[in-house]
Amino acid sequence: MKVTILGNNSALPAFGRHPTAQVVAVASGLLLIDCGEGTQVQLQRYGLKWRSLNHIYISHLHGDHYFGLPGLINSMSLLGRTSPLYLYGPAFLITILQSILDAADSELSYPLHFHALQEGEELLTDNEYFSVRSFPVIHRIACHGFVVKSKTRGRKLLPDKCVEYEIPAAYYEKLKQGSDYERKDGVLVKNEWVTTEGPAPKTYAYCADTLFTETIVPAIYGADTIYHECTYLEKDGDKAAARYHSTAIQAAKIAVLANVKQLLLGHFSSKYRDLEPFKEEATTIFPNVQIAEEGKAFDV
Ligand SMILES: [Zn+2]
Ligand SMILES: [Zn+2]
Repeated sequence: MKVTILGNNSALPAFGRHPTAQVVAVASGLLLIDCGEGTQVQLQRYGLKWRSLNHIYISHLHGDHYFGLPGLINSMSLLGRTSPLYLYGPAFLITILQSILDAADSELSYPLHFHALQEGEELLTDNEYFSVRSFPVIHRIACHGFVVKSKTRGRKLLPDKCVEYEIPAAYYEKLKQGSDYERKDGVLVKNEWVTTEGPAPKTYAYCADTLFTETIVPAIYGADTIYHECTYLEKDGDKAAARYHSTAIQAAKIAVLANVKQLLLGHFSSKYRDLEPFKEEATTIFPNVQIAEEGKAFDV
């Protein structure tokens, strides 16, 4: 699982940084989390194929998290998309989108399935490749984070070995499930001769815009990677609290409490040009910190 950052800034674009959006690549395609202004341009810039994008999750209705969505869903229609798009977000989002479409007398070329986020935690998506759960955070308006979990897809085939042991392709699925293969000549091909262990499932948690709160820890506990906002540096901690945001040190505290492996920092205030101090402050608390740089793909 990989996360590509399309936008890492807060309310205003600044110093070449865009408002929030990020893409999570799972085995079956791409998931988009938040869709700030310019997201469709950023998707193109970083070569992320819209056709593999079937799920969009919007954390809350501050503009820096969804002003790119009307443009994106409209462009998908102009490009003749026919496959369904699954959209999850605050209930009012669909009214906004529908008003925009109605005003333009437009209809989308594809089915848009909308699911309104409920107050508490909720399982939003669950299929053979991944699951996504929402969890509430504390912000000025209703806001949710998301936990994406990839699923193990069985053992990994060693193609050369499968050919060497003359195993028919029709049996490959069973090999992935761990079965041995008995050949017609009576030779029993042991599963471990032709497969290796598959990739371990991964967990990624996107903590959205939030005041520092330990209430989110159970929902994200043990994640491989979390993205936590840090709109402000510690010297501006009073602003963070007043505006329901966090500092880099608070983000790092959450990473420690949740026992995660990697922390991505983002949602920077437009008042800061240099982002290194965010990393410096956070690493005083938690060792594995990365600045969520735009265009960079992070292994979860
Ligand atoms: Zn924001
Ligand atoms: Zn916000």
